[in-house]
Amino acid sequence: MSAPAHWRANADLAGLTTLALPARARWLVRVEQEDELPGVLAHASRMDLPVMVLGGGSNVLFARDYPGVVIVMDLMGVQACADGKDMLVTAAAGENWHQFVEYTLSRGWFGLENLALIPGRVGAAPVQNIGAYGVELAQRFHSLRYLDRDGGQVETLTAEQCEFAYRDSIFKNRLRDKAIILSCTFRLSQQFTPVLTYPALRNALQVAGLDSDNSSIAESHEEISAQQVFDAVCAVRRSKLPDPTVLGNAG
Ligand SMILES: Cc1cc2nc3c(=O)[nH]c(=O)nc-3n(C[C@H](O)[C@H](O)[C@H](O)COP(=O)(O)OP(=O)(O)OC[C@H]3O[C@@H](n4cnc5c(N)ncnc54)[C@H](O)[C@@H]3O)c2cc1C
Repeated sequence: MSAPAHWRANADLAGLTTLALPARARWLVRVEQEDELPGVLAHASRMDLPVMVLGGGSNVLFARDYPGVVIVMDLMGVQACADGKDMLVTAAAGENWHQFVEYTLSRGWFGLENLALIPGRVGAAPVQNIGAYGVELAQRFHSLRYLDRDGGQVETLTAEQCEFAYRDSIFKNRLRDKAIILSCTFRLSQQFTPVLTYPALRNALQVAGLDSDNSSIAESHEEISAQQVFDAVCAVRRSKLPDPTVLGNAG
């Protein structure tokens, strides 16, 4: 059985992971529209090939060639609507995580600043409940939509139903290899409340002259902007780890 014309055979995977180790996929297909997915899965099934979903490749190690179909999630788009004082912001799975954080900040929708510069795409973020610098995804999460790989239907899960725990979720357990996350919705605030529980972040902000006295951190919170927290997180992260797009690493 032949593959559809846009499937790439014997595709190089090195450029699709941050570790950039040499490996190839028997087939690679980039998906830009949700409604392409059922056809891709059906065709892979007819060819009796395993399927793997790839986002930004920052948490995947291909130790050898992949003998099936690698689906790269390129779904794009961000939508937002007000919900009382909050904003419900939905991003498609293929959106770059850091750029999404930057975008929400630019719109005055707060809550993701501490998660700046985490590599990868939105669709993978719930899989391990990404977290950094005192905040984890679960705290800002509203819901997600996923495609059930077996049944072919689109399902919605609330944050609670995602069973988030430390670097863990239902997608690493009961729904492992069963769900393709299509989009994620976050509940963000239009009023900024800094989270400065992480010592390195507090230090960075003090170094920047925002707080000269360790004991007065609480009182000085109101003067700290979301942009300053975002910048401090980026600065701390850059001081600790090389940019994975420049020097391959796994965090
Ligand atoms: C330099 C560096 C720093 C990092 N820092 C942090 C950090 O501070 N905090 C943190 O939590 N993590 C961190 N990570 C880990 C990584 O950034 C996260 O795990 C990120 O969410 C992975 O996103 P990705 O798009 O690259 O996923 P990938 O590596 O492409 O995929 C990861 C897993 O998710 C699955 N997956 C991907 N997309 C989907 C989808 N749409 N539906 C279903 N399954 C999917 C894949 O099959 C795979 O099992 C770091 C990694 C690096 C390299």
